[in-house]
Amino acid sequence: MKQLFFLIGLLFIAFSGNAQKMKWNKNSVIAHRGAWKKNNLPENSIASLKEAIRLKCYGSEFDVHLTKDSVIVVNHDDVFKGMTIGNSTYAELQQQLHANGEQIPTLESYLKEGMKQKGTKLILEIKMAKTPETTIALTDAAVKMVKRLKADAWVEYISFSYPAVQRVLQLDPAAKTAFLAFTKGEVALERLKEDHIAQADYFYTIYKEGDWFKKAKELGITINAWTVNKEEDMKWLIDEKAEFITTNEPELLFDLLKKN
Ligand code: MG
Repeated sequence: MKQLFFLIGLLFIAFSGNAQKMKWNKNSVIAHRGAWKKNNLPENSIASLKEAIRLKCYGSEFDVHLTKDSVIVVNHDDVFKGMTIGNSTYAELQQQLHANGEQIPTLESYLKEGMKQKGTKLILEIKMAKTPETTIALTDAAVKMVKRLKADAWVEYISFSYPAVQRVLQLDPAAKTAFLAFTKGEVALERLKEDHIAQADYFYTIYKEGDWFKKAKELGITINAWTVNKEEDMKWLIDEKAEFITTNEPELLFDLLKKN
């Protein structure tokens, strides 16, 4: 009996030591829509999240939409298997499956899966809805879900909607947020700083003109670049010390980072 207690004690010490070692992965790799490409998994699926976690990516990016009956689901487009998400109920969407047999994930199921570990962050993109009001309703619902599940430590919020990013910060001033922009849609880093937005999250070619990297360092703003899939572009961003690189090719980026 004594030996059993001793063994249990040893296991406890080993486990708690391990738990203390669990830290967010320290690298610049964000898997775009999860890590799906190499293994031909569906984008934005639980399987693609699990693969990003297995690869030890810093983050797994994913996109959310609101169904007609106000369920938040994870998908890139506003259409899933021919059904417009905003005009469909969650039950209707469940009738179609991803190629790997998964149902369309809900935000709740995605967060719960991500919260089983503590290495990879969950990079939640609030998609622009049909109207600004619906985008804000989606934002409110997403932040509420994150709070309800106590997933705050895992989640970073990103959006092309500046009002959505501002809304997140109204609801949760401690949240890490980034503003997304495509060519010429960018906002000056000084404005992001003023608005307490932690990160510029721009299409990578935007950073080729001007002194973004230098200015970001001065202001204490981090830089993420997307969607970077070519080796030469990855190398350039690694040399510029971009904090984060969002890619469909996380395996390639890890290889380049190892060589660097
Ligand atoms: Mg996205």
